[in-house]
Amino acid sequence: MQCNHCEEKAVYHELGRAYCKNHFLSYFEEKVEKTIKKYKLIEKNDHVCVATSGGKDSLAVLYTTMKYCRKHEIPFFALAIDEGIALYRDHTLEDLKKFCDQHDIPLQSVSFKEKFGKTLDEVQNHAITVLNKKPCTVCGIFRRTLLNRTAREIKATKLVTGHNLDDEAQTLLMNLLKGNMRHNAALGPLTGLSENEGFVPRVKPLYHISERETRLYCVLRGFEVNFHECPNIHLSFRAGVRDMLNELENKSPGAKHGMINAFLEILPDLKKKYREEKKFKYCKKCNDPCAGETCNACKQEEELCKEAK
Ligand code: SF4
Ligand SMILES: [Zn+2]
Ligand SMILES: [Zn+2]
Repeated sequence: MQCNHCEEKAVYHELGRAYCKNHFLSYFEEKVEKTIKKYKLIEKNDHVCVATSGGKDSLAVLYTTMKYCRKHEIPFFALAIDEGIALYRDHTLEDLKKFCDQHDIPLQSVSFKEKFGKTLDEVQNHAITVLNKKPCTVCGIFRRTLLNRTAREIKATKLVTGHNLDDEAQTLLMNLLKGNMRHNAALGPLTGLSENEGFVPRVKPLYHISERETRLYCVLRGFEVNFHECPNIHLSFRAGVRDMLNELENKSPGAKHGMINAFLEILPDLKKKYREEKKFKYCKKCNDPCAGETCNACKQEEELCKEAK
């Protein structure tokens, strides 16, 4: 198959579009730039923190955000969280360090061990057997909190994440299946329901880009990236939803795009509805904004890191 834009052989085709290597790279980067501008994800006066792990989504978002920030002279840095997942995170963090050195990107790192006293591996058994909590639930709560706290300490004004179209479609469906529409109201390219100075706004420049496109972008750009998955993913609800959506997409190409575009149509109304119900309190232990007396991270730290053997 030939590229739609030149005489070269196509390396990617989907929904009637075909691109050679160069045209695919331009298509990808232009789409990121368009998403940033359309939703005002990054602006002139921002100080941008890119949440990154060294995996493919995070290298793609780090590289494209770097290009955007350098072009518009916006300060930025990368922030890595080490959850403590042996034989996985240590490798992706090594790749990340090399990548940041190579591209002259300032890198900050912080770990569960250093901030909560235990690695994810150390608390995992206790979480599953005693608290009936999956590793991804524990990981998600600590990771979100550390990203926000660290970005806030460094005075970042935006927190960029590598969530792509597939991640968003999976989360949307997971929340629907759990009957949790309020959590869906907090999704979108610019996440959250209400502004609060305790939260650094999270933004998703890869929002309209698929997993398949992200993977190809990393390969074509020659990034040294580890395509292995976290060993805990198979225990998660997300893995089942992901497989189901991939099967649907195979049978009905464009299904994920359709789902996200339909969701974006109702999102402003959803945000409006749930924003009115949202009231912030402040955690009595760490003072982070939260819904109850204590934030989820402090609760989890108490029940896991102080109890786990
Ligand atoms: S798959 Fe689960 S445990 Fe692994 S990094 Fe992701 S959220 Fe954490
Ligand atoms: Zn071409
Ligand atoms: Zn707290």
